[in-house]
Amino acid sequence: MRCMALDPATPGRLRAETRPDPRPGPGQVLLRVCACAVCRTDLHVVDGELPDPKPGVIPGHEIVGRVVEVGPGATRFGPGTRVGVPWLGFACGVCRYCARGQENLCESARFTGYQLDGGYAELVVADERFCFALPNAYGDTEAAPLLCAGLIGYRALRMAGEGARRIGLYGFGAAAHIIAQVARWEGREIYAFTRPGDAAAQEFARSLGAVWAGPSDAPGPEPLDAAILFAPVGALVPVALRAVDRGGIVVCAGIHMSDIPSFPYEILWHERVVRSVANLTRRDGEEFLALAPKVPVRTTVETLPLGQAEQALTRLRAGQVEGALVLVP
Ligand SMILES: [Zn+2]
Ligand SMILES: [Zn+2]
Repeated sequence: MRCMALDPATPGRLRAETRPDPRPGPGQVLLRVCACAVCRTDLHVVDGELPDPKPGVIPGHEIVGRVVEVGPGATRFGPGTRVGVPWLGFACGVCRYCARGQENLCESARFTGYQLDGGYAELVVADERFCFALPNAYGDTEAAPLLCAGLIGYRALRMAGEGARRIGLYGFGAAAHIIAQVARWEGREIYAFTRPGDAAAQEFARSLGAVWAGPSDAPGPEPLDAAILFAPVGALVPVALRAVDRGGIVVCAGIHMSDIPSFPYEILWHERVVRSVANLTRRDGEEFLALAPKVPVRTTVETLPLGQAEQALTRLRAGQVEGALVLVP
């Protein structure tokens, strides 16, 4: 099969390779990849910002694929079934985190496109227990960004609290463009904070129902009840803390962030909260994938051939993407 993998010789780069077709092991399904969306986490993997990736790993964890073959004991999805593969590729099921419904925190968890080969490939194997059935309302490329941008965005929105009405989104990329639609459907107001001068992103946010869109280096027009940071920029944490009201929550939704500068206690005072969101649980996925067609969430996608994975990452790095980029083998 053809794939785009981490180049061990040149950190920060991908390399086109041909590898032997993977075989499904016990409990696994072999999928022909139909579409794989590109996530900011892929950039962190390629740039070496996450510890101990599988050497030569194939990135990609927003995979829509069709079952080609099932491994021994796999019974959940028959050949031809369309399934989604997310970031959480394995959790142990027995540790103290798994036992209390926090498999996203499992110390033995393994992640797709990081410790397990992912979807920048023609074929991929996945543990069937961690795959999702996908709603029929979406085509392959439209469904792909739901699998991380959507899921993680959904978990971050839950962490913002049910009572949060005015929500600031910092960084209006793939996750924000999905979750803005969910938040609006839930009766909340979205305030979109983008890179200063990024009029296109601000216009895009308004087109998806944001009541306000403007630069992230200035406060918004109203105090926020919560802010979700999708941009991996630590300097935005104190900025967002200053933008939230008393009791407000600042949710850091990325897996990696530049250092957070020191800030006066006064901006955390009055029970403001800073927290992170890590990974996803299968329950998040099932809830969100049931909700998305009801809203209905519409994803804005641009497709690129698999061989242009590097160009996709370069554009994501530069913020030159409206919605999500999706690779098609
Ligand atoms: Zn566990
Ligand atoms: Zn992701």
